[in-house]
Amino acid sequence: MEKMLNQFRVAHFVRRFLLLRCHMKKKSKPIKSDVNLVNLIERFGSHEKCRAYLTELKWPNGVQCPRCKSKSISTIAERDQYDCNKCRYQFSMTSGSIFHDSHLPLWKWFLTIYLMIESNKGISANQAGRTIQVSYKTAWYLCHRVRAAMREVSADLLQGIVEVDETHVGGRYYGKGRGYKANKAVVVGAVERRGDIRLKVIKSPSRYWLHKFIHDTTDPKCEATYTDKAKAYLGISDADTRHETVKHLEAQWVNGDLHTNTVESVWSLLKRSAVGTYRKISIKHLDAYLDDLERRFNNRRNKFLFRGTLLKLVKAEKLPYSELVRAA
Ligand SMILES: [Zn+2]
Repeated sequence: MEKMLNQFRVAHFVRRFLLLRCHMKKKSKPIKSDVNLVNLIERFGSHEKCRAYLTELKWPNGVQCPRCKSKSISTIAERDQYDCNKCRYQFSMTSGSIFHDSHLPLWKWFLTIYLMIESNKGISANQAGRTIQVSYKTAWYLCHRVRAAMREVSADLLQGIVEVDETHVGGRYYGKGRGYKANKAVVVGAVERRGDIRLKVIKSPSRYWLHKFIHDTTDPKCEATYTDKAKAYLGISDADTRHETVKHLEAQWVNGDLHTNTVESVWSLLKRSAVGTYRKISIKHLDAYLDDLERRFNNRRNKFLFRGTLLKLVKAEKLPYSELVRAA
């Protein structure tokens, strides 16, 4: 008994130490984004400045007709529009993009995108609405459109050592204990060491769904899969890939390199953001929130994320409210 307690203490200490070291590393090397709140206001404080920037992003080599690709274009200044000299098609910088039909000034879009990128824990539609002074419905639509446009269907399979774990997300059910799971969604995650993460809502933490997720997200030739001792993971190894397990119940969290701390730190981020930022996260929209978290995690070292996001948005197709609600 005494021995077990000692082992537990040592494991606990090592885990705290590693977590602390992770945090210190993060603090000692801050990634400097190319945008901060002060230069955001200086550079993009008006609708005109934002429009000029988006025009430059969309047509770096000069305005081009979306229909006939001609570059011989006249400007209709009073309507912010262009007129193609070849096919006479009239268009604007926002035509076909998600900024189209939006009555919001562009600087409000810019500010919201900035807040969504900068905040570690994400930003709720309520917060966004208060910040840019629009209704909850407008803010909700705005945040979801930004997320939807950013949805990255990354085809890259995870390589090397991949940690996999699953967790339950959802509030407590009235009259039931903390362990009650019927009203919760199961989220599974895979993280490549020092690399990207993939997150997904699955029907149940069964062998079928967990194995399918691992096969869909990781390279069949990756070096190793690290999971906890759950039986559902058994049989995931093959000739190229080792399967190693961490014994959580026996207080063996860190055994040399063998741990699932990276994916677990993502769960704590998810739960803090779900509880702290969104208050009530709707299971219906959980996938969108996971996309958001995935994108923020995978871009944690990308200092040009703001520009990259705008670039995607100005090229992304518009998404009407009705479609968004149906898809959600
Ligand atoms: Zn044309």
